[in-house]
Amino acid sequence: MKIGVLALQGDFDAHRRRLEQLGAEVVLVRKPEQLDLIEALVIPGGESSTFLKLLGEQGLEKLKQFVRSKPTFGTCAGAILLASEVENPSQAGLGAVDMRVRRNAYGRQVDSSIRTGEMEGAPIEMVFIRAPRIERVGPAVQVLGREGATPVLVRQGKTLAATFHPELSPDARVHQAFLDMVRTTNGKG
Ligand code: GLN
Repeated sequence: MKIGVLALQGDFDAHRRRLEQLGAEVVLVRKPEQLDLIEALVIPGGESSTFLKLLGEQGLEKLKQFVRSKPTFGTCAGAILLASEVENPSQAGLGAVDMRVRRNAYGRQVDSSIRTGEMEGAPIEMVFIRAPRIERVGPAVQVLGREGATPVLVRQGKTLAATFHPELSPDARVHQAFLDMVRTTNGKG
């Protein structure tokens, strides 16, 4: 299975290592044409506004087309890019998940933290770094994980988004869930 990891900026290498551990072949995507070579994509954490600048209008359009047709997993800044609505401040995005996210929502004092949340009923470690908060999800969105009452891992169709950084915890469940999703989605055609 060939999985791309968007490698413009941010912590793409931890995703690469995790996906390789799980048996995927990883392509570090630095140019829009490389999207044609992969079956699925991970958009890592970083700074979502910087991603938008680096992608440019054409890159964003190409990425939008990809996300419409193939499984995509965004973490933190990646999740922000996938959202339909972004605030603090508002910015453009891919609109793949019907949700409103608020950037840097946890405030300066708690810039980063490791907390225990729940994924599909089981406890799981979650690393938050200047994380966005999901403030609203639409009816087509499935909430797969929560921290307290807040959704932190959500899925809409072939798109998965996490406001935390599963690539930074030893637990591989979230990436495994994505690879399973890729297998079933692409298998079905
Ligand atoms: N604060 C970043 C943003 O708003 C996201 C942080 C992250 O990806 N760790 O884009």
